[in-house]
Amino acid sequence: MERIEKVVRQARAAFNSGRSRSLEFRMQQLKALERMVKEKEKEILAALHADLHKSGPTVYNTEILSVLGELTLAMEKLPSWAAPQHLKKNLLTMRDEVFVNFEPLGVVLIIGAWNYPFVLVMHPLIGAIAAGNAVVVKPSEVSENTAQLVADLLPQYLDQELYPVVTGGAPETTELLTQRFDHILYTGNTAVGKIVMAAAAKHLTPVTLELGGKNPCYIDKDCDLAVTCRRITWGKYTNCGQICIAPDYILCDPSIQSQVVENIKATLLEFYGEDVKSSPDYERIVNKRHFKRVVGLLEGQKIAHGGESDEASCFIAPTILMDVSPDSKVMEEEIFGPVLPIVTVKSIEEAIEFINRREKPLALYVFSNNKKLIRRVISETSSGGMTANDVLMHTVVPDLPFGGVGHSGMGAYHGRCSFETFSHRRTCLIRDLRLDVLNKMRYPPVSQERMDV
Ligand code: NAD
Repeated sequence: MERIEKVVRQARAAFNSGRSRSLEFRMQQLKALERMVKEKEKEILAALHADLHKSGPTVYNTEILSVLGELTLAMEKLPSWAAPQHLKKNLLTMRDEVFVNFEPLGVVLIIGAWNYPFVLVMHPLIGAIAAGNAVVVKPSEVSENTAQLVADLLPQYLDQELYPVVTGGAPETTELLTQRFDHILYTGNTAVGKIVMAAAAKHLTPVTLELGGKNPCYIDKDCDLAVTCRRITWGKYTNCGQICIAPDYILCDPSIQSQVVENIKATLLEFYGEDVKSSPDYERIVNKRHFKRVVGLLEGQKIAHGGESDEASCFIAPTILMDVSPDSKVMEEEIFGPVLPIVTVKSIEEAIEFINRREKPLALYVFSNNKKLIRRVISETSSGGMTANDVLMHTVVPDLPFGGVGHSGMGAYHGRCSFETFSHRRTCLIRDLRLDVLNKMRYPPVSQERMDV
């Protein structure tokens, strides 16, 4: 634990040296990170496979290309992001310089989760480096191979004192949280999010919390169900349902429930074949703890499809639940697994009321040909983000902030928003000392006579 204190102290000393501030230095570190991802691509993919059985083009796109994309964007835009923002002046400041300067916050702590273990530490790291900070990186111990690889690789490519990696689990994170940071970005479940925020409060450290929740997915009666269900199936069962923005449950009219089930079943067959277990495209649950938790959610439910599981390999088949009661356990907690409950509602009003009775989700999905209905759902509900007529896709737009609201999180990052999250917007006013006569009105004595003039 002494080591943790030392690592943070060194990072602060390195930040105080001022070397992370120049744009040239930041750019050089980002370039080094890009080189790391390109040169160590095979090792990164192997670690992800060892941790989560991830393989093929999907993992390449989500964990490698998305990190390279974020790096390219940051390197291309950094000069414009970091440039002072000159603002409109008023009568009192006509002759002055008025601007916002983006300055680094200091030492940032990034705590990652296991489901996208590489991208969830790399994306915030890119933003924090771009903004000129020192960064302590704490990857998730649950995805231990990726965590170790990040710990091995970063010091080979980046300034070792400015960007240290701390590995370990709850005890190490708890110890880290006793240290003083200038910002903490945490990704993970809401319960630990509260622990992180309470620890940060002791030092008045601002936090960005990237949490989870139950993401609703409303299907209107007018939809092309084949297309709708193909998109939902992709978003729900990719990574075995372990995606923070995966549709958690479906809301639809009772009259289309069976068709929804049939269309999802047909898509599952198309995606994973007759024997899902042997499909190279179907992942596994990360560990036995999560396996037992997800299997436990099936108890007492009407299984319309799937339901098979194998504890030894942490396999849970893609599962659909029908006629699910809003009060059942599966509708209480975030599922974070390949189980898709369908709750029937008789109208869009009922769907909106259902959504609003629960905590604000990280993502919300609505499928409809009726743009008015889509806009109504946007204006009458709240969520971190939303996509209409597709799932997950709002996260691929680099300029859209990514984050939650209420219990699904606070603050946001990605692209320019990452840079801003890890920067202080410093208000700057530069005046000159001439023409003080113009200030006469504000100096005492402010007599009534002078006021009358
Ligand atoms: P996890 O178990 O990897 O935990 C996250 C981090 O918290 C780890 O680094 C871990 O070391 C630390 N931690 C765990 N217990 C702790 C404790 N008691 N005190 C201090 N630190 C502790 O990940 P998880 O929580 O299982 O992740 C899944 C959750 O994360 C889901 O709710 C999911 O929706 C959410 N998530 C959100 C996003 C997002 O961007 N909003 C992305 C991925 C996952």
